[in-house]
Amino acid sequence: MICMRGDFHYHVAPMEIVNRSSRMSAISAKLISTEMQIGLVPTMGVIHPGHISLIDAAREMTDLVVVSIFAHRMLFLSEQEYLQYPRDFTADVDLLSQQNVDYVFAPSEEEMYPGNHSTYIQVENFGVKLTGNLQPLLWRGLTTTIMKMIHIVRPSFLFLGLKDALQGAVLRKMIRDLSLGTEVVVAPVARHPSGLAYGTRNIFLTDAQKAAASVLYRSLKLAEEAITGGARQAGKVIQEIKKTVESEPMAEFEFAFVADPESLDPVGRIGGTVLIGVGARIGTTSLNDSLLAESPAE
Ligand code: AMP
Repeated sequence: MICMRGDFHYHVAPMEIVNRSSRMSAISAKLISTEMQIGLVPTMGVIHPGHISLIDAAREMTDLVVVSIFAHRMLFLSEQEYLQYPRDFTADVDLLSQQNVDYVFAPSEEEMYPGNHSTYIQVENFGVKLTGNLQPLLWRGLTTTIMKMIHIVRPSFLFLGLKDALQGAVLRKMIRDLSLGTEVVVAPVARHPSGLAYGTRNIFLTDAQKAAASVLYRSLKLAEEAITGGARQAGKVIQEIKKTVESEPMAEFEFAFVADPESLDPVGRIGGTVLIGVGARIGTTSLNDSLLAESPAE
């Protein structure tokens, strides 16, 4: 890869896999000393087109792209979910090397969280009213992990997907509260032609379940149409999302929300831009999706 900044051309070696945080920190420090801007795309692996859309955005906006692969048990609701989560590091490296990624940062669990780890980052009083399905410990695992990633990689930009909009909002808040200076870029959701958002857990779905899972997006699109058409009552929009999901026999409704995209506070009366989200279980697999909807001026 050749990077251009001003009159200088930097020649960067082929993709390197880094396992040690000390090595990653040293690489980042060196790059930053030459005024390179680093883009970090954090993932839990099993690279799919959704991740690749974030990498594309990172390549457009930054000089160097670091993709992290890290799936710690703290990032899962249950031990069972953690153990069942798919992993395929060889295939990931193969795919990423075709995407002009500069570094893959793939620390072991022991490297990031040695046995005596006891320091955590927690964003308080945020998103709690919305997310009965997301337990506080899961948020804590996410914020602590991304905080460590930011310290080690020192990215100018952090690339996240709108699909996990709640996570993005919590991380933006953490970054602002702690004056970390990293800018969060939220990229649109990459989807199958059916509307189903690409996601690692889709691996668990049969073809029939995949077809059924497109109901999540359909329910959000209907809600968006209602909002752009002037619907103001969030409660009614949520009921409509629930009804649409329940019209699909293979789907079990889990949650829906209409929230302020910055504060994540639930919205009663809709005005301006709102974040709408839905979660549903298809078979034993929990899926989620979100989009931003704009209501007309009153
Ligand atoms: P994960 O590996 O599932 O933790 O996802 C890593 C990042 O990729 C998160 O910021 C996700 O929001 C983002 N992401 C996952 N699926 C998609 C998708 N279909 N489109 C865009 N971004 C996505």
